[in-house]
Amino acid sequence: MQECIFCKIINREIPADIVYEDDHILAFKDIQPAAPIHLLFIPKKHIPTFFDLEPEDSHIIGDLQRAAATVAREMGLKERGFRLVSNCMKDAGQLVFHMHYHFLAGRPLQWPPG
Ligand code: IMP
Repeated sequence: MQECIFCKIINREIPADIVYEDDHILAFKDIQPAAPIHLLFIPKKHIPTFFDLEPEDSHIIGDLQRAAATVAREMGLKERGFRLVSNCMKDAGQLVFHMHYHFLAGRPLQWPPG
């Protein structure tokens, strides 16, 4: 997926501030943070949207959520917590078609989002 910006980050073709990596998941800082802590958790496999998930990808989503909890613990967020949210397709505002979860923390977050 040469044209995918997140694949380029995975392949170290463009720089990113990486905060977590394992065999299946990468997490890095969002370049346009919407909160004091704004990370993106992505699968290393190129999956454009939720609609492209295959049955064998199920573990990736579980791994991704556990990775978010691991990073949150390491960042001292166990008490205050965080939000994990994913935009799927046009109405949700998805701009990068390599599925990802936004990890937002560091301030009280509003609900519902806009
Ligand atoms: P989406 O709107 O849910 O697809 O979110 C895409 C996110 O990727 C946005 O919050 C962007 O700021 C972020 N983003 C785009 N390019 C980069 C990059 O090169 N590094 C880090 N974050 C990026």
